[in-house]
Amino acid sequence: MCRTKLQHGFILTSNDKTGDGNERFLNLRIICYSEKSITGELKLNQTAKIITQAKKDARQALLETEAKTICAEYGISVNKFSLAKSEGEAAAMAEKIGYPIVLKIVSQDIIHKSDAGGVKVNLKSAAEVEAAYKTIIENAKKYKADARIEGVLVSEMAPQGTEVIVGAVKDPQFGQTVMFGLGGIFVELLKDVNFRVAPITKQDAKEMITQLKAYPLLNGYRGAKPADLDALTEILCNVSKLILDNPEIKELDLNPVMAYPKGAKTVDARIILE
Ligand code: ADP
Ligand code: MG
Repeated sequence: MCRTKLQHGFILTSNDKTGDGNERFLNLRIICYSEKSITGELKLNQTAKIITQAKKDARQALLETEAKTICAEYGISVNKFSLAKSEGEAAAMAEKIGYPIVLKIVSQDIIHKSDAGGVKVNLKSAAEVEAAYKTIIENAKKYKADARIEGVLVSEMAPQGTEVIVGAVKDPQFGQTVMFGLGGIFVELLKDVNFRVAPITKQDAKEMITQLKAYPLLNGYRGAKPADLDALTEILCNVSKLILDNPEIKELDLNPVMAYPKGAKTVDARIILE
């Protein structure tokens, strides 16, 4: 696909349907969006503030708390969370949110939290939360002695759903692209993922999902209830808006998103700036 930027925020896209590498501007599509924001009335206060602060601090990777705040502002459903700075604070927050609880390390120096022993799931009491808080901080220090630790994320535990991945990367040739796949081996081993150049339409998003080889797993395999296609489509479209509104974003990774028969929840969010 080829994109040509025109004046006034118009983008011209074409598909090389012949497959010989020569762009022929077949199926011309003109997509209109304002250069500043395509989200219209949304008040995007937090997003701009978070990105500006990260740039000031010379941080490329946003914290999970920051990435989830941005997601929430763009209508991407995330589970309830708070940042605790002590085990007492974590227990108090857990009581407020309700059990079971998940705790996760929040550090700009630890991107893959599980690798660092930084994730504890299914905590069912204040005592378990306090103990897990201590273990997570110890594990983080063992993993990287000089890691800068902001605290521990206390979050609502999402029920198990079908784990899917929503991503975004800046392609040197095509610009910002949105990605969709199923979690685990489907992405890592089988590379069963679909990409589209942003902005995407609802129809594009639907195709990204339904054209996966593993789509039957989302669509009622062996008597399971089908996942909520509209909820997943909405997440993909909102990610498309988010990355176009914020060109500083180099990479975005919602991994996993739990897909349910009704709705979907993002339980981990990572955003990397240029
Ligand atoms: P990382 O990818 O940095 O290792 P994640 O936040 O993805 O950390 O957590 C690791 C795994 O723990 C997830 O893949 C998911 O299966 C589970 N998990 C994390 N947070 C939650 C949550 N709030 N509810 C349910 N499961 C969770
Ligand atoms: Mg993850």
